[in-house]
Amino acid sequence: MKCEYCEKEAVENIYGRYYCENHFVKYFLGKVRSIIDKFGINGRIAVALSGGKDSSACFHSLHKLKLDLLPFYINLGIESYSEICQKKAEELCNSLGYRLHIIDINEYGINLADEKKPCSVCGTAKRYLMNKFAYENNCKYVATGHNLSDVVTFALNNFMNANLMNFRGNRPYLEGKEEYKMVAKIKPLYWLKDKECMLYVYINRLRYAEEECPHAISAPTIQIKEWIHEMEGKKPGIMLNMAKSFWRLEEMIGSKAKLNICRKCGYASYSKICKFCKIRKR
Ligand code: SF4
Ligand code: ZN
Ligand code: ZN
Repeated sequence: MKCEYCEKEAVENIYGRYYCENHFVKYFLGKVRSIIDKFGINGRIAVALSGGKDSSACFHSLHKLKLDLLPFYINLGIESYSEICQKKAEELCNSLGYRLHIIDINEYGINLADEKKPCSVCGTAKRYLMNKFAYENNCKYVATGHNLSDVVTFALNNFMNANLMNFRGNRPYLEGKEEYKMVAKIKPLYWLKDKECMLYVYINRLRYAEEECPHAISAPTIQIKEWIHEMEGKKPGIMLNMAKSFWRLEEMIGSKAKLNICRKCGYASYSKICKFCKIRKR
């Protein structure tokens, strides 16, 4: 099949349109640009690198769009996995001319191997440390590599667990709150599916870790994501519509929870002591 925009062979079919490698990259960067433009992103962005394909694609695409970036990596101290991922993130940064900043979770007294629910602790720690790093380094935004497949998976997981209290993170942009030391969050890959991120990484020959986190096997979201992709295969566009619906729903529900300032660390919290400080105390 030929590309819709030139004579070259197509490598991807997106919602019924065929793209060659060059035009696919243009499409990808256009989707990232649409998020940047829609929310008027202008200023330094702390980019969270995990060593995986999505954050690598996110970082590379923001670099291509010539934004002001500060890449960082949170070493979760998970056996050899964390070391491999750090190495890949470093290689990517070096190849693009950046220095990677490293944050070590163990320095905060957290050891995921000791936790009964490592993913829950990991999620809290990552959210906290990302924001802290961005705030302390005068960044206006934190960018993460969450893509369309992730957004829909997380939202459905909340639905399946009747967890509307935590029905957040379904939008590509979350405004910051200076008084709570909260930096704005952006998801530049919001309109791009898992396989599109993989193709972008492949075409650009980006370095990334193929290893899965050993704790991922127990994560319930893996099955949800497989199920969503199966549905998307049968009815292309379903994920896009779900993301739009979740985005609107989040805006309609709003946040009833009242923000405080953590008495221990001074960062935002929904209770007197933030979740991160509670984990550290434990
Ligand atoms: Fe963290 Fe769980 Fe993801 Fe591993 S699978 S990186 S522990 S959230
Ligand atoms: Zn083409
Ligand atoms: Zn705290």
